[in-house]
Amino acid sequence: MSQTTQPRTFEVITYGCQMNFHDSERITGVLLEAGYTPATDGAQADVVVFNTCAVRENADNRLYGNLGHLAPVKQSHAGMQIAVGGCMAQKDRDIVVNKAPWVDVVFGTNNLGALPALLERARVNHSAQVEIAESLERFPSTLPTRRDSAYAAWVAISVGCNNTCTFCIVPALRGKETDRRPGDVLAEIRALVSEGVQEVTLLGQNVNTYGVEFGDSGAFAKLLRACGEVDGLERVRFTSPHPAAFSDDVIAAMAETHNVMPSLHMPLQSGSDQVLRAMRRSYRSEKFLGILDRVREAMPEAAISTDIIVGFPGETEADFQATLDVVAAARFAAAFTFQYSIRPGTPAATMPDQVPAEVVSERYQRLVDLVGEISWAENKQLVGTPVEVLFADNEGRKDGATRRMSGRARDNRLVHVQVPDDPADRPRPGDLATVEITYAAPHHLNADAPITGLRRTRGGDAWAAANESAALPLTLRPRA
Ligand code: SF4
Repeated sequence: MSQTTQPRTFEVITYGCQMNFHDSERITGVLLEAGYTPATDGAQADVVVFNTCAVRENADNRLYGNLGHLAPVKQSHAGMQIAVGGCMAQKDRDIVVNKAPWVDVVFGTNNLGALPALLERARVNHSAQVEIAESLERFPSTLPTRRDSAYAAWVAISVGCNNTCTFCIVPALRGKETDRRPGDVLAEIRALVSEGVQEVTLLGQNVNTYGVEFGDSGAFAKLLRACGEVDGLERVRFTSPHPAAFSDDVIAAMAETHNVMPSLHMPLQSGSDQVLRAMRRSYRSEKFLGILDRVREAMPEAAISTDIIVGFPGETEADFQATLDVVAAARFAAAFTFQYSIRPGTPAATMPDQVPAEVVSERYQRLVDLVGEISWAENKQLVGTPVEVLFADNEGRKDGATRRMSGRARDNRLVHVQVPDDPADRPRPGDLATVEITYAAPHHLNADAPITGLRRTRGGDAWAAANESAALPLTLRPRA
C-alpha cells in the first residue's frame, strides 16, 4: 500500500449468495492485513469494492448503475479507487472497464487474495488492472478473514460445481468442484470455536458431492459426525445439498449427531420431471419426495425448505401444476421462489419456448400463495410448544410496548421473542433460551411468554467482547 500518513479506508459492497458474503469476509480480511481500515459510517471510503453476482435479478443494471453513481464521487475524492470482483467480474472481465473506464481493478472469484497488489499496481501505473484467474489460486479459507458475526461463521468445504444445470452460471464462473481436506475444515472449526463461535454453516455449491475430489463418497456424512465431536460447537448447518447426490448416510449422520440441526434447505427447482430434465437436474420429483420422507422419518421435527424457479423455458401449465403438486406433498416450512429470467451465458438463455413474462408472473403468484398457506399451517402447529432460540445480532424491534429480539430455532425458523425490559436481563446475541411459541405467522413465529432457561453462552460473551472493543473478530489465518 502507498506510504501515506493515514491508512486508506475501504468499503465492501456485496450482492448475491452466501458464497459471495463469505468471500466478502475474506476480501475484508485481506484488505485489513494489507493495512487498510474500514471506512466509518457515512464517510466516503478511499477504496470501494463491489463483490458482484451474475445470477440475481438485474445484476448488470445494478452494478453499472452503482458504478455510474460513483464516477463523479471519484472525481472529487483524490486518490479514490474502485474495484469490482465476484461472478459478474469473472463473467464480464474487460467489459467492466470498457463500460466504466473509471474502475481501477477487476478481479475474479479465484484470486481474491490478489486485490491489494492489484490496487497498488493500478495506483502506480495509473491504469486499470484486470486480472481473472481461471482456476482457484488458493482455497479462500486459507486467506485472512474478518467475520461478520462473533458467534456464527461460514466454513467453506468446497467451491465450484461439477453439475451443469442449464439455468446456472456457477460451473462457468467458479469451475469444477474443489474440495477442502476434512482435517483443514475441522481445524478451522476448532479455531473458530476457541474464539467464541458456536454456530457454523458448512458451505458448498453441492455439499453432497463433498469428497468426490479425494475419492470418499461418504466424506460429507463423516464430516457432520466429526462436527459432533467438537466441544463447544452448539449448532451445525449446511448449504446447499443436491437431491441427486443426497444419500441415506447423510440423513443418519444428521439424525445421530447432536449438534447438527434438524433443518434442510434442499432446492427442488421444479416439480415437473420434464422441466427437471431440461434443467439438467438428474433427480426426479419422486426421488425428491422420497428423501423428504426419509428425513422426516429420522427427524420428525425437521423443517424443510426449498428453492423453486417458475417459468423455466418450455414450462407448460401441466408442468407448473406438477410443481404445485410436489409443493403440496412436500409441506415446506419455507420456499424461496424465483421467476425465471434469462441469464446471459447459461444454456437456458438460448432455449426455445421462453415463457411470456405475464404467464410467469401469474404462475408465480399462485405458487407464492400455496407456499404461504402451507408454511403458515406448518407454523401454527408449533403454537404452545417450547423451542430453543439462538438470538441474533439485531437491535430488537419496538412493537408498541413490546420489545422483541429475533433469533433462529433449531429448525431454522425465525422467532421474534419478547425480552425483559431491563437490558441486564436480556439475552445477548449468541445466547440461547427456551421460549414458548405464542403466535404463528406465515414466515415467522412469536414468543411473547416470559423467557425460561436463558443460557449465557461463550457466543454471547464473544459478541459482548466484540461490541465493547467495537471490532469484530479477525481471524488472520485458520490454524490448519
Ligand atoms: S448444482 Fe446446479 S444450480 Fe447448483 S451450483 Fe451446481 S450447476 Fe449451479
